[in-house]
Amino acid sequence: MSDLQQRDPEIFHLISQEEKRQQNKIRLIASENYVSTAVMEATGSVLTNKYSEGYPGKRYYEGQQYIDQVESLAIQRAKDLFGAEHVNVQPYSGSPANLAVYLAFLAPGDTILGMALPHGGHLTHGAKVSISGKYFNAESYSLDQQTGRLNYDTIRDKALACRPKILIAGHSAYSRVLDFPRFREIADACGALLLVDMAHFAGLVAGGAHPSPIPYADVVTTTTHKSLRGPRGAMILCKQEYAAAIDKAVFPGLQGGPHNNTTAAIAVALKEASTDAFKQYASQIVKNAQALAATLIERGFDLVTGGTDNHLMLIDLTNKGVTGKIAAKALDAAGIVLNYNAVPYDTRKPFDPSGIRLGSAAVTSRGFKEEQMVQIGKWIDAVIADPANTALQADIAAAVQQLCSGFPAPGLEYLG
Ligand SMILES: *Cc1c(COP(=O)(O)O)cnc(C)c1O
Repeated sequence: MSDLQQRDPEIFHLISQEEKRQQNKIRLIASENYVSTAVMEATGSVLTNKYSEGYPGKRYYEGQQYIDQVESLAIQRAKDLFGAEHVNVQPYSGSPANLAVYLAFLAPGDTILGMALPHGGHLTHGAKVSISGKYFNAESYSLDQQTGRLNYDTIRDKALACRPKILIAGHSAYSRVLDFPRFREIADACGALLLVDMAHFAGLVAGGAHPSPIPYADVVTTTTHKSLRGPRGAMILCKQEYAAAIDKAVFPGLQGGPHNNTTAAIAVALKEASTDAFKQYASQIVKNAQALAATLIERGFDLVTGGTDNHLMLIDLTNKGVTGKIAAKALDAAGIVLNYNAVPYDTRKPFDPSGIRLGSAAVTSRGFKEEQMVQIGKWIDAVIADPANTALQADIAAAVQQLCSGFPAPGLEYLG
């Protein structure tokens, strides 16, 4: 980035610092990852210079000889990888993708039913502060207070009582596999469309480590930058009968020109995600999460649902006498980066909740295996046992950096 260094040393410096942070810290934020150098090269390409409102073969500007091929490749790869009938690769990110689905099928005031935000649902599934909760009649289902799991009978009761037009399955903090056949049955029973938002676990679906929602859902949305390990962006996958409605909702309904550099990078990420190496990656993500979960459970941590089937863990720290925020800040000082998070039926406020959320997608991308996950679990335990001990945090941060130096992060290999 020598040009950037010359023209804008301030931004160059900040990017360099962020590169070091990403190399030297253990990144456990469940929605984050490391993309490959190839994905970054496509993201940083001249495709950012091109306007292409419309879809391949039906554009409003000339000069689409190459852009049409890029977008067609991205679409075809997504169809092949996920077995989808129709794919739109233009949503700018996961939130606009969900909004496009609502625009395609709902009128203002119509009812949607999704997982409650404090129980692991996403803002765009009907939270009151979100447009999804302001423009629509948003109903929600919760986790079972005893098990911390979805209770499909209560979801069914709720769905039959409120009769949503769209039933949403999907989450940002639920560590168990979703029962898509059961969601389908509930959607059919109440006459709803079934939207599955697989933003978090799309990479696991791609790699065969999580059941696929595609055979069951009318529409599937996903971000491309979480476990799928692509650029920041999103896709909508749907049955052919909804193709026209979805495409019209994305453009011209919600967006203008697609981000063609992102589209190209999505195509690259989808090619990477269709390899055997990615299958191994996806199954290692789950093994790593389970190794970390087991280490923490042995040390008395209270994992919501008692464990994990996917890449993430939600931990209620109440029994440790530490709040989520204090734990997250202490861990960050120790080189272990994660986020504080509400737990189901949290008695504390959302900005100062009782839990932390951990994910294994990013560390697995840099090559961590079970052995490293056990070590991370021991460090987390030590930090949380004594969260005011800044000397301990500094020692662990040094050990973390040492460990990380043996596992160069994708795209940052030159930092060593
Ligand atoms: C991350 C996430 C999104 C939104 O993605 P953005 O790209 O941040 O807008 C939507 N749904 C779920 C379930 C998510 O986890």
